[in-house]
Amino acid sequence: MHDTASADLHIHTTYSDGKFTPEQILRYAAKRGIQTVAFTDHDNANGYRAGLPIAQRLGIELIPAIEFTCHWPHCDIPIEDDDTDVLGYFINVEHPAFLAFEQTAFQDVCERMTELCERLTQLGYPMTLQEVLAENPHYPGGLHLAHAFQRKGYVSEWQEVVQILHRAKDHLRSATFSIYQAIELVHQIGGIAILAHPTTLTGQHNRFRPEHLAMLVEMGLDGLELYHPRVDASARRYLSDIARQFKLLVSGGTDQHGWKDGLRRLGKEPITPDMVAALRARHAARQYQKGE
Ligand SMILES: [Zn+2]
Repeated sequence: MHDTASADLHIHTTYSDGKFTPEQILRYAAKRGIQTVAFTDHDNANGYRAGLPIAQRLGIELIPAIEFTCHWPHCDIPIEDDDTDVLGYFINVEHPAFLAFEQTAFQDVCERMTELCERLTQLGYPMTLQEVLAENPHYPGGLHLAHAFQRKGYVSEWQEVVQILHRAKDHLRSATFSIYQAIELVHQIGGIAILAHPTTLTGQHNRFRPEHLAMLVEMGLDGLELYHPRVDASARRYLSDIARQFKLLVSGGTDQHGWKDGLRRLGKEPITPDMVAALRARHAARQYQKGE
């Protein structure tokens, strides 16, 4: 039991591409003694809204959060993979600017999925957005597409499904929302902006460099997600050093989606109460500055 942290700040629910409902996750967290949880669903906070009354009943702190799907801006400091995720914590999910964002983001993901379905259709595998939404009306994600694809019986092997979808996705446009817009919106709605799993931005030959981070700090980035299954110990040491130079906050979580191994990994990244307290303090300071 002692190897489970008291907090997990990166979890996906059925409101984006996670397998488990907010209630299932919260009940599991309660059993494991995890006291602080953040649902970081892609581009919406509906998991938070659904989970809040349940968390209150169970005595768990549920931090209002989100994971924005963004693109890296066109600039002098390019990055290998244009797709960038930004986490927002302690956000005001009822702010009109946020509600407007949620609507636009849902349209954007539907448009990209429609384009992907059209490409698959051209490749000889007819597919529609409606069929993907039938898998999960809350969010048409890649995994839901894969499930719909398999359900239609085009191929039997999962590995083959993944390969076909990978091919169809080549050069599909990124989300219209930029990392800059994400940071700006998070601050507008009182939150803290954290760069998600920084290691996924760069390939082996193009390490995430201090210049990259300097640009994000200039935009107002508050911190880095240094505890994540895709940030190994050497990457963490390297990133911790540059995070310190910029006086950035540190965050983390298991990025649980639950498809492979259920909820067993929940709470398995060493997130300390101090890290959560530092995020909360930055949020409070920002509210104070705004005079709210
Ligand atoms: Zn995630």
